[in-house]
Amino acid sequence: MTTIAFNMQAVGQALEAAAAAAQRAPDSVQLLAVSKTFPAAAVRAAYAAGQRQFGESYVQEALTKQTELADLADITWHFIGPLQSNKTRAVAEHFSWVHSVDRLKIARRLSEQRPETLPPLQVCIEVNTSGETSKGGIPPADAADLAQQIRALPRLQLRGLMSIPAATDNPAAQRRAFAILRELRDTLNGRGLTLDTLSMGMSGDFPAAIAEGATLVRIGSALFGQRTYGAHT
Ligand SMILES: *Cc1c(COP(=O)(O)O)cnc(C)c1O
Repeated sequence: MTTIAFNMQAVGQALEAAAAAAQRAPDSVQLLAVSKTFPAAAVRAAYAAGQRQFGESYVQEALTKQTELADLADITWHFIGPLQSNKTRAVAEHFSWVHSVDRLKIARRLSEQRPETLPPLQVCIEVNTSGETSKGGIPPADAADLAQQIRALPRLQLRGLMSIPAATDNPAAQRRAFAILRELRDTLNGRGLTLDTLSMGMSGDFPAAIAEGATLVRIGSALFGQRTYGAHT
């Protein structure tokens, strides 16, 4: 078995264990394999082990990889990185999901640029739950307005909320940060939205995220190994 196939199995078991501990059904948590910085061969290995949803953070790197992997037609690509205006067209044309929408301007461009031949782009609003100014994401208090504005955009389908909390090894602190996103989702749904996605949890904190209701965890290094960052755009 390749290392990636082995890791896929171990992560799959850990997701099931975390779901069971939270008294949740195993299929209520989806695994998004975050392949940024890893080559197309790594995606192929995970694909061979059954993985179909992949996340990328750098537009140019992702487009190159998608071309190399064009024969794997049933991959669903998720864009999870910071998104600038000059990259929205490529994302609107080449991804099924965007998790990192945190401004109306970006949302409008994605809607305008989404090709008519494709289904609506599935989007999450990125929320900055820890108040770190260095991080992307909209403050929780502003999420309701942005959600209503996105709902009016014809080529986007608002699916939920995403967060990247401040890293901590403390499971109680991890859970508190994820609880903020879950409570915000519940508040918005109480006001008439129908958000079904909580995109939260990474390699270091996914059990806490699942305990707080994550429906999709974004996992990179636990599947593919340590990342080394080169030049990415
Ligand atoms: C890189 C990245 C991940 C994966 O992080 P790991 O710690 O390697 O699991 C998840 N979400 C986002 C937004 C990322 O950029």
